[in-house]
Amino acid sequence: MRYFSTRGVGPVSLDDALRLGIASDGGLFLPETLPHFDLAEFDGAQTIPAVAHVLLQPFFAGSALAGDLDSILAETFSFPIPATPLPAGGRDVSLLELYHGPTVAFKDVGAGFLAACLSRLEGDIENPLTILVATSGDTGGAVAAAFDQRPGMRVVVLFPDGRVSERQAHQLCCWSDNVISLKVQGAFDDCQALVKGAMADPELSRRHRFSSANSINIGRLLPQSTYYADASIRHFRRTGHKPGFIIPTGNLGNAFACIMAREMGLPIGPVILATNANRTIADYFETLEWLPRASLQTLASAMDVGDPSNMERLRHLVGDADVLRDQLGVLSVTDEQIETSIRQDFRDFGFATCPHTATATHTWRQLDPELASRHDWILVATAHPAKFETIVEPLIGTAVPVPPELEALLSRPAKSISVEPTLASLATVLE
Ligand SMILES: *Cc1c(COP(=O)(O)O)cnc(C)c1O
Repeated sequence: MRYFSTRGVGPVSLDDALRLGIASDGGLFLPETLPHFDLAEFDGAQTIPAVAHVLLQPFFAGSALAGDLDSILAETFSFPIPATPLPAGGRDVSLLELYHGPTVAFKDVGAGFLAACLSRLEGDIENPLTILVATSGDTGGAVAAAFDQRPGMRVVVLFPDGRVSERQAHQLCCWSDNVISLKVQGAFDDCQALVKGAMADPELSRRHRFSSANSINIGRLLPQSTYYADASIRHFRRTGHKPGFIIPTGNLGNAFACIMAREMGLPIGPVILATNANRTIADYFETLEWLPRASLQTLASAMDVGDPSNMERLRHLVGDADVLRDQLGVLSVTDEQIETSIRQDFRDFGFATCPHTATATHTWRQLDPELASRHDWILVATAHPAKFETIVEPLIGTAVPVPPELEALLSRPAKSISVEPTLASLATVLE
């Protein structure tokens, strides 16, 4: 399979698309064509790795990793991704729990797959690859967990000191010696500027062989499409219906993976994006004008994106807003509605949802009744609520039990280095 940038550069191999992350023209890599599947091709596939093998094999054609696909998938899907039925008044509604990975958020899937691929392509003990990752919370932990203890790979996590929760900070700083956690004395934007500055600095990048693991890498999207394939196939086998999906959305990576799966012929019905108060996508569908903007801070902080970069992929694959809005729904959810939804989820389901997941449960409750009853629905849960306990616990009035994965991280010792937001301080630490 050959890959091209959304802006035209290419072709490149899968291996180079994984190494590069972003194309040299600033565009995002997409496969030249999407394979199309008949359901029967998945007949023997009863587990996520088995479904993933069928789905992803064409994307690895010609890759140096083709023979390693099964071991890559076994590493990536080392935890379950169940769809749990919800009490929904006799309707068929379930919650797709993407939060059973090492850092209890869905980004573990993409980060784990990318790490499994890159360590096989690049793991050079003499001359390690340095992965730089700026994070406002979830991404850095998932990337650190995925690359932890991998020979020939070093991760540098940059996060804004004092602006992530205590539990979040801990899971950014509790790794082995090949993960360096930097508390930057500044904001998330400073962290991002440092990563960009270091990668653009000829002297530094010669010395350190940099790469990044941010969400625009095609290696994060491919594995994400497999849990949509698996969940929709299971649902279809059980009921004969194509389920609709409601997906908490920020940078549009997770939802894009679902749309990609639908384009490949998987039994997926309507797809609805649930965003927080960052209205860029909602306004685009309404006015047909793409107006990226600065992000607003909300309770669903991992979705605070004002310029969702995967929209470029979506427009390339499907079309502009006039086409897109016939194929996708979108609802922008306010912080107040997130709070109400967390309370109501706890009352109705008997367990708490995280603020991101609560945008999806709110969106489901707001569906037009006719649309709601015409389909079965799968609501996507992107993180475990125990990770956002300072928001969730006061709303439900009780403690959220900490899952064993998170407990394991919180009981490890944590260490970090405090740095000024300057390239010179970053350069010193990198030595
Ligand atoms: C990153 C993240 C999202 C948003 O996913 P995108 O792929 O950026 O749309 C939603 N929820 C959680 C918990 C996240 O970490």
